[in-house]
Formats: sequence, C-alpha cells, structure tokens
Amino acid sequence: MERNTNEGRRSFFRGAATIAGTALAASVIPLRVANAQQKASKKAMQYQDRPKNGQECDQCMHFQPPKACAVVEGDISPKGWCAAWAKKP
Ligand code: SF4
Repeated sequence: MERNTNEGRRSFFRGAATIAGTALAASVIPLRVANAQQKASKKAMQYQDRPKNGQECDQCMHFQPPKACAVVEGDISPKGWCAAWAKKP
C-alpha cells in the first residue's frame, strides 16, 4: 500500500515537471522568434548614410558586414550612423 502511494506521488511529480517544462518551452520559443525578427526602423534610430562626429557603422559593435545591422532593419552603409552606435570592443 505504501509503495503504491509513493509511486503515485513520483508519477504525479514527473507529470507536473513535464507539464511545467513544456509550458516554459512554449513561452520562451515564441519570444526568441519575435526577438530575432524585430529590428528598429531607420527613422526610429535616426539612421543616416554618413558618419556623425567621427562615429560610423563599421566601428560599431552592432555592425554585420558587409551592410547589415543587428539593431536597424534593412541594408545600411558601413559609413552610416544611428543613435544606437556603440564602439566595437
Ligand atoms: S551605428 Fe546604428 S546602424 Fe550603424 S551598425 Fe551601429 S547600431 Fe547599426
């Protein structure tokens, strides 16, 4: 009798852990997809096709050669600039 009760508890907790893990995965995966797809517009980031105060995209940590950016959507110029500029480490 005791053995059946313990097995029942273990089974319950295994089931609960599986449900919790599935719920967590379901909530995290769409967020990752959303983050991967969302970039800021050029207008929102005040993007321009020329450097500003000596700062330019090819010196920025968000620059993705040859003409993409991790922050701003669409093609950018390596000599451009936007408000998210951050010096490459
Ligand atoms: S300055 Fe702006 S547009 Fe240029 S690479 Fe950096 S984040 Fe992207």
